[in-house]
Amino acid sequence: MGVFDHHEFDDHESLHFFSDKATGLQAIIAIHSTALGPAAGGCRRWMYSSNTDALTDALRLSRGMTYKNAVAELPFGGGKAVILANNAAPKSPELFSALGRAVASLGGRYITAEDVGVSVEDMRHVQQQTEFVSGLPQSGTNAGGDPSPWTAVGVFLGIQAAVKSRLNLDSCEGLTVAVQGVGHVGGHLCRLLHEAGAKLLVADVNRDNLKSVGEKTPVKVIAPSEILYADADVIAPCALGNVLSSATISRIKAKVIAGAANNQLSTEADGARLTEREILYAPDYVINAGGIISVSHEYLGKSSEDQVRNDVAKIPQRLDLIFAESKKTGRPTNEVADKLARRIIAAGKK
Ligand code: NAD
Repeated sequence: MGVFDHHEFDDHESLHFFSDKATGLQAIIAIHSTALGPAAGGCRRWMYSSNTDALTDALRLSRGMTYKNAVAELPFGGGKAVILANNAAPKSPELFSALGRAVASLGGRYITAEDVGVSVEDMRHVQQQTEFVSGLPQSGTNAGGDPSPWTAVGVFLGIQAAVKSRLNLDSCEGLTVAVQGVGHVGGHLCRLLHEAGAKLLVADVNRDNLKSVGEKTPVKVIAPSEILYADADVIAPCALGNVLSSATISRIKAKVIAGAANNQLSTEADGARLTEREILYAPDYVINAGGIISVSHEYLGKSSEDQVRNDVAKIPQRLDLIFAESKKTGRPTNEVADKLARRIIAAGKK
């Protein structure tokens, strides 16, 4: 498995491979950048089809965290942990304790929290081993706990900004939104969209999650293979990455794509494909920063939920700037966002 010549390698500062025989833990921690502060980013547990896929995910997600934290004006660099799930090493307190020891061994250069497949409870076991962890159970009105409701709030506000920019509408009332993936973020997002008067189409590969969202919110379920091509005004990808590619973009009918999933574009060129088709794409790491905003307030301490709410409310303003620059220059929104992130990082380094 090549690393330095890997197509997702982007001068990452360091890569760390961990294995713990007793618990079966196999994990990769990628530290992309500490230019703006310690590398912060969640831990994903996933059944990868190969070690190379896990490495690709760690490289891409950690770079995304550098850009996400920079644009969200957080004093953190970017990193990510991925746990290679396998049936011989089921989730257990001991597995997350082993992950905690791995995080501790990096001496604070990487701060972890939850991502796909990892819960607040798992982070409590990490906390037994290291202080470099966030996304822990909330106390009172302090910032903290599961970041996904905050991610959903940011995505909801971002959808409103995108709808205003592309469709010139002041609200989501009467719009049809297709949500791909109704897990932690997608489930909360459906509730917010329903309260705002949107009609919902949803798809998920997990029946329990579909059932749970359907019990709380009126939704029409459609097949996972059809959700991206639904007759909808907005597509909100809230499952996994790589969903926007040369194969899928040509079939999309919606005019706005705005959702929580990380790495929605399969390649950078897919941003240009969306622009050519006049589909407005809200750059993933800008719109989905609500969770890391909560996590960072919690980690830095002495912060309230109101402060998190105030900072999450800045997400649509950042998107407005990106949409306006994209309109003015004709450049794809992902390119405009990357440029902005690089400018902030370069200024921070100085
Ligand atoms: P989750 O695991 O709770 O939910 C993901 C859902 O997508 C699950 O219900 C899963 O069954 C479903 N899914 C998987 N493959 C699918 C497919 N092919 N079609 C339809 N549904 C499918 O994860 P989450 O925490 O809700 O995060 C969702 C996405 O948002 C991820 O990409 C994550 O990295 C990103 N994100 C999450 C947060 C957060 O605060 N949780 C923050 C930023 C970004």
